[in-house]
Amino acid sequence: MATFRPRDASITIAATHDSFLYFQLYIQTTMSTATEEHTHTFQAEVRQLLDIVIHSLYTDKEIFVRELVSNASDALEKMRLKQLTEKDVFQPDRELGIEITTDEEAKTLTISDSGIGMNNEELIENLGTIAHSGTKAFLEKMKEQGDSNADVIGQFGVGFYSAFMAADKVDVHTHSWENGTEGQTWTSDGASGYSITDNADAQRGCSIVVHLKEGMEEFCQDSRIKAILEKYSNFVSFPITLNGEHINKVEALWLKSKKDISEDEYKEFYKHVAHDFEEPLDWSHNRVEGKHEYTSLLYIPGMAPMDLYQREAVRGIKLYIKRTFIMDDAEQFMP
Ligand code: ADP
Repeated sequence: MATFRPRDASITIAATHDSFLYFQLYIQTTMSTATEEHTHTFQAEVRQLLDIVIHSLYTDKEIFVRELVSNASDALEKMRLKQLTEKDVFQPDRELGIEITTDEEAKTLTISDSGIGMNNEELIENLGTIAHSGTKAFLEKMKEQGDSNADVIGQFGVGFYSAFMAADKVDVHTHSWENGTEGQTWTSDGASGYSITDNADAQRGCSIVVHLKEGMEEFCQDSRIKAILEKYSNFVSFPITLNGEHINKVEALWLKSKKDISEDEYKEFYKHVAHDFEEPLDWSHNRVEGKHEYTSLLYIPGMAPMDLYQREAVRGIKLYIKRTFIMDDAEQFMP
C-alpha cells in the first residue's frame, strides 16, 4: 500500500519544537502535584486545530471514527512488536483487538483497544501537543484555502483531535504496556486544556469515550457506526467488535502474494467490495515499487455500470493507506 500519507512524513522540526513545549508543560505539572487532578493547557497549535475542528469543519464528520480506529490499530501493531521483544509486559494475556460500544442513553461512543497504551508523560506529549507534520500540513492548508474548503480533512485526517467534531467531552482511560506504570484518565472538553487523574482500573491499551454533542446522536447508533466501520475499517488487521458483534471479517486480499490467491478468492473478493452478484470480467494485481510504493488490484466488472457516461469523476478507484479507506476517486492510480 502507498506509504506517502502526509502525516507519516518527516517530523524532525516538529520534534525539536515539541521537546521545548513539553518542557513548559512539565513545569506546570510539577507545580500542581498537590491535588489528585492535574490540569494542563493545550499547546497553542492544538488550540488552533481544535478551533478549526469544532467551528469550521462541517463535512465528513464521520471520519473521526476512522481516525480513532486507525490510532487503535497502530497501537495494536506496536503492541504486537512489544510482545515479541519485551519480557515484562502489563496484562500479557490480554488479546489484541478493538472493542467498540455505543450507548444511546448515555450518548457515548467508546472505542477500546488493547494496544500499547500511554503513561503519564506520553499522554501529555501525545494528546497535548501536535507532534505530527501531517496535522501541521493540514493547519497550513486550512490557512491557505480558508474555512470554505474544509473538506480536505477527509484526505489529511487530524487524528485524535477530530473526535471533537462530534464530542463535547472526551475521556481517555489508558494503561501503558509497561509493567510498573500507573493507569491514567485524560479528560477534555476540547476548549483550552485537559486534566489527568490516576485510574487504578485502567486496562492495558486505550479506551476512548466520546461524549456526543447535541445533534451528533447518530454516532451512538449501532447501525450508523457499523456502516462507518464497513466503509473505512473493514480491512484492519485486528478483530473489531461492535457491541459484541465481529465486524471486519474480510481479508485485505491485495496484501497477499499473488501466488497464494486462488481464482475463486479473487472473484469472491470482487463481489464483496463491489457489491456485485456477477463475476468480474477480469482483474489485474500489481505491486509498484519506487519513489512511492503501492499495490493495485483493479477489477473490470462483468457489466458496465448504468451511469458510466454521466459520471463527472472517476469513482471506483479506492485508495487504502495502511488498510484504512481514504477516498474512492483516486484516479491518479488508474494504470
Ligand atoms: P497521529 O495518529 O497522526 O500520530 P494523533 O493526534 O491521532 O496523531 O495521535 C497522537 C499520538 O497519540 C499518536 O502518535 C500516539 O502516540 C498517541 N495515541 C493516539 N491514540 C492512541 C491509542 N489508541 N493508543 C496509544 N497511543 C495513542
